[in-house]
Amino acid sequence: MKEKYNNILILTGAGISAESGLATFRSENGLWNNHRVEDVATIEAYHKNPDYVHDFYNNMKPELWNARPNNAHLAITKLQQEYPAEVHIITQNIDTLHEKAKSKNVHHIHGQINQAVCLHCGKVIETWGDVSSETVCESCGVMGMMKPNIVFFGEDLLCMNKVEELLRKADLFLSVGTSGVVFPAASFVQTAKYYGADTVEFNLEATSNNFYFDRHIMGKAGETLPKFVEDLLNQVHYKSSL
Ligand code: NAD
Repeated sequence: MKEKYNNILILTGAGISAESGLATFRSENGLWNNHRVEDVATIEAYHKNPDYVHDFYNNMKPELWNARPNNAHLAITKLQQEYPAEVHIITQNIDTLHEKAKSKNVHHIHGQINQAVCLHCGKVIETWGDVSSETVCESCGVMGMMKPNIVFFGEDLLCMNKVEELLRKADLFLSVGTSGVVFPAASFVQTAKYYGADTVEFNLEATSNNFYFDRHIMGKAGETLPKFVEDLLNQVHYKSSL
């Protein structure tokens, strides 16, 4: 580990929001909030039965609206505010807890629960209200083409040009609460390592692609990440006081 970093990149997954009470993606029986992933998170499922998919995300909105950021989200904000480096977040989470924690530079590669995109004209709207196959696009006026702005299996990730740039630039890459099985996010650590970043994983357990991490910090992110951030801040403050 270096004494000082200039470009810190943090990849977050469902595990960072677990201590805010939000369920992670796949439970042991392959269900997400009691639904088969194939029925609610694939583009085929959306085309086959859009209202079933809309209902799933509409029903999720109140819980995500009410969720509060936990100490792990807040530790990232503190790092952004107090560490003299550029700090970016790439999140796979569709919740908006990084924004609620007042973090900046948040890149949502899997979309956001509070957005819908028009498949006819590409307009993205922000809404915590319900979206359905009867919703009319406020930009092009076409009905029935609004899709939750969630990246489903079978679709391209969002903001990938920015992600590539950040992965090349990072000198410290942190992965927090992600299982490392959902690609391509699972391969980001490999790219960051290739371009020379120190890499640290925060998880409850060892993950399947742990080969590329220099350090594994096991435990709840709400406990381990604040401590790690304090150590980074102490190190840089100590150095600047010499
Ligand atoms: P995942 O559910 O596959 O894995 C979560 C990981 O977090 C696991 O490895 C688990 O061991 C770890 N974890 C659980 N609690 C933790 C804690 N307190 N501290 C540290 N680690 C903890 O999640 P993923 O890798 O992010 O992939 C799932 C996909 O599901 C993402 O693409 C995301 O879009 C979506 N998703 C999002 C949310 C959300 O927005 N909060 C919730 C569920 C699923």
